[in-house]
Order: sequence, then structure tokens, then C-alpha cells
Amino acid sequence: MTDEGRRSVGVVGAGLAGTSAALGFAEAGFDVTLYSDKDRESLRDKVPPTGVGVLFGKSREWDAEIIEDIYDVGNTSGISVRLHSGSGEDRTDVLEFNPDYGYVAQAVDLRLRADDRLGRFLDQGGRFEVGSVDVDRLDEIAGSHDLTLVATGKGGLSALFPVDGSRTHYREPQRKLLQVTLTGLDHGPDAFAYRSSAGGNHSLFNLDSENGEIFVGPFLHKDAGATWSFIVFAKPDGAWVPTIDEVDDAVSARAAILDIFTRYFPHDAPVIERLAVIESDPVSWLTGAVTPTVRHAVSTTRGGHVVAAIGDTAIAVDPVAGQGAQNTLIQVAELVRAAKAHDGAFGADWLEAEFEKHWQRRGRAAVEVTRLYLGDPDYATHLELSFPAAAVDTNVASALFGLLSEPNPLLTLTSREDVLGFITAVSGEPADDVLGRFEPAGRFGSAADRVAS
Ligand SMILES: Cc1cc2nc3c(=O)[nH]c(=O)nc-3n(C[C@H](O)[C@H](O)[C@H](O)COP(=O)(O)OP(=O)(O)OC[C@H]3O[C@@H](n4cnc5c(N)ncnc54)[C@H](O)[C@@H]3O)c2cc1C
Repeated sequence: MTDEGRRSVGVVGAGLAGTSAALGFAEAGFDVTLYSDKDRESLRDKVPPTGVGVLFGKSREWDAEIIEDIYDVGNTSGISVRLHSGSGEDRTDVLEFNPDYGYVAQAVDLRLRADDRLGRFLDQGGRFEVGSVDVDRLDEIAGSHDLTLVATGKGGLSALFPVDGSRTHYREPQRKLLQVTLTGLDHGPDAFAYRSSAGGNHSLFNLDSENGEIFVGPFLHKDAGATWSFIVFAKPDGAWVPTIDEVDDAVSARAAILDIFTRYFPHDAPVIERLAVIESDPVSWLTGAVTPTVRHAVSTTRGGHVVAAIGDTAIAVDPVAGQGAQNTLIQVAELVRAAKAHDGAFGADWLEAEFEKHWQRRGRAAVEVTRLYLGDPDYATHLELSFPAAAVDTNVASALFGLLSEPNPLLTLTSREDVLGFITAVSGEPADDVLGRFEPAGRFGSAADRVAS
């Protein structure tokens, strides 16, 4: 508590979670200090973005509780999905669909989002202390604040929070990741027009049953503006991993993307070839992997002070279903709201109860929808039924991608009958009739066809 009677909050780590919490708590009347291992310039210009951070629909409502929407580039209304299977002569174009989401998805450079939050926090007189926080310093911070939040991402101080084995499904990464942002194509109607009449209003999602997935989406880069963000999700035993392993700068990241498109998605390759690296941003790329992990989000420091984890420190998911940043913002917005309304101390019981509410509200569903999109064997039936149905009925396709915005309905689909019932309800006709109309795509439309015509 400060001399003026304001309750104090220490936030450690200035990524999306930390800057959102710092701004949210400051605006709610708390006295906030944000601790970061990097200064403001380094956070914005010297590190890659932690991820693409697409906010799919509903999470934007929570985000608006922290800061109003100040971005008008990077907004999309749907997605063009294509599934391929087999290799060599047996490779086939299996199915495609192009649903409107029914919501707006927004892809803004996480470094820009975090910097805008940090700037506003500083304008309000928020304190920003630069220096790596170790366990002793954390103990001091926790001892001198009413509430201390740890937002140091997947590494950092996360080891203070034990892994919750009952909520953690994997012991190792499920995908090897490559992320890069490229420039040279605007977001207008001609972008990928052979895929969808929506052009730059739709993202692309290419699935290869053996090797993984690629997401391509309109993106607001912090300096270059309207650009395209790529994420390769390579299956650990698939053929794309050696290509990703070669990447060590933006130029080789672009080369790896072009190589994978040329060999596996030739329909799109002529467009990808036109894209270039962003010269002003040598760290516009990253490679890595996430071990999906849920932690006990409340812990105590050496001196016995309570600390709580937010963002990736609490729940880290593979990015294939775009849940991490969304989950973070929902956790932070709800925590600010609850803390503002709470009169007592922020003890372990209160913090644990709040994390439990977050787990039930969103965390668990975020984990499960990620397992669905990873193709976890527990969801084999869901995928076997819903993808062909989506190819036949656009309402099913929208509902499938509606789960990225609101994943909770997935928790109610536990059996084959549930999934068939879902398809029936969404399509308005018996699921068997929908599935009976499915036919393999044959051959997808291609950028080369378009150039030729
Ligand atoms: C390839 C990829 C694509 C993604 N796409 C999406 C998507 O489309 N949608 C979505 O919702 N999510 C997505 N995500 C997830 C999203 O990026 C993360 O969930 C989110 O950025 C996590 O933010 P954070 O603040 O918790 O962690 P971080 O961004 O890792 O921030 C942690 C901060 O703490 C600092 N720090 C670390 N240790 C210390 C210390 N000891 N002392 C002080 N500071 C410290 C770090 O320097 C860093 O600034 C994606 C992730 C990846 C990898």
C-alpha cells in the first residue's frame, strides 16, 4: 500500500502479458511498477515478436478493457483452408473451404502492441525498472508490493511455478516452428485472389497431412505496416524440419518458406516468390518450439511472499490454434477487474481461486482447441467428420474456425454422436446428408493458372 493508500502491484516481464497488466492495473487505480530485463527500445526493435498474436474475435472484447483498438491494418474476416495428403505421385488435393469467420481477427506485431501499452503506462506516470529479475530480486519485489505478477514468458522465472501434470498433456513440443514477416504484397482484393474472392480479407491455412501446417495472414508490422506473416508448424518427424533447421536470418527464413511452398504448395508459390524480407527489421523472424505446459499459477518466493503467473508463464500452448496471446489478454483483463472489486489481501487463496476461474472460463478450452488443431488422437473423430463437413457446408467451416474465437463449445463435444449433432445443428440438415455430399477436391486453383489466363 502506498502513502496515498493506493494498493501496489509489481509486474515482472514486459511482453504482451506484462505491459497489458501494467496498463490495466494502473488504469484501475493501482500503483504499478513494471520490471523488465530489456529497455523499451530493445523490446520494440531488437527482439523478434514472441509470436504472431492474432486475436480471433471474442478476445478483442477483453483486450478493449485494457486499451481501445488503435489499429486498422491486419484485420481479416475469414480464412482459405486447403488440405493435401500423400507424397510424390500419390499426393492429392483433398479438400478446401473459405469461410467467413463471423468475427474480425486482428494480427498486429506483438512488439507494437506491447510498446503502445508501455507508452501509455509511462504517460500515466507508471514506473519502469530495467534489469533482469532473479529469484532474490523477485523476493524483494514481492515483499514490497500488495500483488506481484510474473510475466516472464515460457522461460524466465516460470520454473518457480510447478508444472500441473493433470492439465499438461505433452512432455515435448508437438511442432517445430518458423515465423517470419514478409513484405511486397498489399492486403487488397488481388492478394491470393485465386484462393478466395475475399483477397486480402482472408488468411490462408495450408495443411499437409504428413508434414504439418502453414498459416499466412495479413499483418501489421511495427515499421513496415501492411505485410504478411507466415508460421510454419512442422511435425517433428516430417520433412520440413531440416529446412527450418537451416534458418539463421530473415533471408534464409524467406528461402525456407519459398522452398516449402514450391515443393508442397506449388499453387501458391508464384505469389510467395514476390514477397521480400523487411530490410529495416533483421529480427522479423524466429524459430523454436513450444512444449505445451500448464503450471500451478500461484507460488511463493524464498521469503514466503506470494506471486502469481500470467501469460505464457502460466499457460503455454502450441500456436497452431492461435490461443496464447488471446488467453493472456483474457486472464489479465479478468484479473484487473477482480482485483479492483476485491477489498482484502491478494493472498494465495484468492489468487488460486482467480486462476481457477480463468482455467474454467478459457484456459482449459484454449488447451483443448489447440489439441484439436494439432490433430491429437483424442480428436481424430472430430477431425475426420468436421473437415469434410466444412468442405461441403460453409456454416460448418465457420463454426470450426469459430472455435478459435470461442473454444468452449468444443468441451461439450466428447463423442462421435456429439460431433454429428454439432454438424447437424450448425448446417441445418442431417450430418449424414452433409457428409454424403463430400467429394475430394481433385485439383486446387493455382496462382499459375491465374497468371496464365
Ligand atoms: C510462432 C508463434 C505464433 C503465435 N501466434 C499466436 C496467435 O496467432 N494468436 C495468439 O493468441 N497467440 C499466438 N502466439 C502466442 C503468443 O505470442 C504468446 O502467448 C504471447 O506473446 C505471450 O506473451 P508473454 O508476455 O506471456 O510472454 P513473452 O512475450 O515471452 O514476454 C516475456 C517478457 O519477460 C521478459 N523476461 C524474461 N525473463 C525475465 C526476467 N528474469 N526479468 C525481467 N524480465 C524478464 C522477456 O524479455 C520478455 O520481454 C504465438 C506464439 C508463437 C511462438
